[in-house]
Amino acid sequence: MRKRVFSGFRPTGRQHIGNYLGAVRNFVALQDEYDCVYCVVDIHALTTLEGTESLREDIQEMVLDWLAAGVDPQKSIIFVQSHVPQVQELHTLFSMLTPLSWLLRVPTFKEKVKMQPHNVNYGLVGYPVLMTADIALYKAQVVPVGEDQLAHLELAREIVRRFNSMYGFVFPEPKAKLTNFPLVLGLDGVQKMGKSYGNDIEMAASPQEISERVMTAYTDPSRKYRSDPGHPEVCNVFRLHGFFTAARAEEIASDCSSARIGCVDCKKILAQSISSNLEPFRERRAGFASRPRYVSQVLADGANRAEAIAKETMIEVREKMSLLQRADLERLG
Ligand code: SF4
Repeated sequence: MRKRVFSGFRPTGRQHIGNYLGAVRNFVALQDEYDCVYCVVDIHALTTLEGTESLREDIQEMVLDWLAAGVDPQKSIIFVQSHVPQVQELHTLFSMLTPLSWLLRVPTFKEKVKMQPHNVNYGLVGYPVLMTADIALYKAQVVPVGEDQLAHLELAREIVRRFNSMYGFVFPEPKAKLTNFPLVLGLDGVQKMGKSYGNDIEMAASPQEISERVMTAYTDPSRKYRSDPGHPEVCNVFRLHGFFTAARAEEIASDCSSARIGCVDCKKILAQSISSNLEPFRERRAGFASRPRYVSQVLADGANRAEAIAKETMIEVREKMSLLQRADLERLG
C-alpha cells in the first residue's frame, strides 16, 4: 500500500518561479510514489494576514497554477483547510495535551513575535498544534520538509506520540522526507524570491512580461562596462540560467568571464529559456481557466474526499478519548 503524504501551502495567489522550483514541481513528482494530500492552509494564513479581501481569489489562482503545473486531481486530494471542519476539532483536542512550554520554544514563534509585535495572537502560538492536526487527521506518514522545518515536524511527532501513549494508538508518527528545496533569489539578487518583495516572475507571465522582468534583474555588480569580464558565480541571472538553461550554463559562464557576452544578451537568453520552459504550463493554464468553475469543482471534490478520511479519524479519536458521542445518546436512551 502506498504511503500518504501531506503538504500544506498558504494561499499566496499566483505562483512565481521560486514557488515552482521550491515546491510545486515537487508536488507533481511525489504523486507517482505516494497518495498525496495537498492542502491550501487558509486558517494558518489568518495568523499573519492583515486583511482577507484577496483570500478567495488567491486560493483560486494558486490552485489553478498547481493544476496547470501538473498536480493531478485524479491522483491527489487538493482541498482548502477550512472546508474540512474536523481539523478544528482535532486541533482543540491536541491543544489539551500540548504543554505551552513546547510551543513557546519554537524558533518560528519567536521570529513571528519580532516580525509582528502588534499582532501576537493566540493562533500564532498554537500554529504547530494546528499543523499537527492537519497531518494527523489524514494519518499522513510522510511530510516533505526542508531542513529548517525539521523542528516543526519533531514537535508534531511529539504531540501524536503523547496522544497515542495517553489514549491508545491512532496516529502514525509522521516522518520527514528531507527535500532539497533550492533557495531561489529574486531579481534583486538579495532577498528570496517573493511577491511581497516585488522581485518575482509569475509562472503565468507572458513572454513579454518575462522579458521585461528579467531585464530588471541585478547582475555582477563589479561588471560596469560591456568589456569588463564578469563573475557568473556571484550573478543571480547566472543562477537562474542554472535552473532554466542548464544545458548551456558552462558556455554562458565562459562567455561571461571572457566578456564575449554582455549582460543584456545574457538576459535575453534567460528570458527566452524561462518563457519556453513555461510555455506548456501557460497553455494548460489557459485551458483550465476557460472552463468555468473548474477549480471550484476540483476543490469541492477534494474537500469531500478529505472529509471522508477526517470523519473516520475523528470517530476513532472520540472513541479512544472516551468522549460521549452523539450516536451513544440514542443507544443509552
Ligand atoms: Fe551575469 Fe550574464 Fe552578465 Fe555574466 S553576462 S554578469 S552571467 S548577466
